[in-house]
Amino acid sequence: MVNWDNKKYKQECDKLFSRYIRMRDGECKIRGLDNIPCIGGLEAMHIIRRGKLRLRYDVNNGLAGCHNHHSYYTNHPYLWRDLMQKEFSKRYYLIRQNEERLKTYIDWEDTARSLAILVGDLRSSFVNEPC
Ligand SMILES: [Zn+2]
Repeated sequence: MVNWDNKKYKQECDKLFSRYIRMRDGECKIRGLDNIPCIGGLEAMHIIRRGKLRLRYDVNNGLAGCHNHHSYYTNHPYLWRDLMQKEFSKRYYLIRQNEERLKTYIDWEDTARSLAILVGDLRSSFVNEPC
C-alpha cells in the first residue's frame, strides 16, 4: 500500500477530477444560460461547492465551465445556487439527497484509483486525446 500523505492524494485527486470533468463535458456548460460571455480555458466546477470532501470528487457533482463563468459564480454563490437549481435541478437535488449519506472520512487511495480509471476509460473512448 502506498503511504502518501493526504496532501499529495488531494492534489492528485483534484488533478484527476478536473481532467475527467473537462474531458467529459468538453465545453462550458453555462454558455447561453446567462448574459456572461465565455472567456478563458475550461475548468472543473462543482454544482454543490460546500459539503463533505467526498462531494468534491463526485463526478456527478462536476461541471465544466470557462474561466470567466467559474470566476464570476465563485464570487456570486447565491446566483450560482439559483442557476443550478433551475438548470441542473435533477442533478442538484440528487446530490443534495446523497450528501447526507456520504461518509465523513475519505479513502484517498480508493478515490484516486477510481478517478484514474474514469479518466482512462474516457480517454480510450476518444480516437485522439483531447488534452
Ligand atoms: Zn463560460
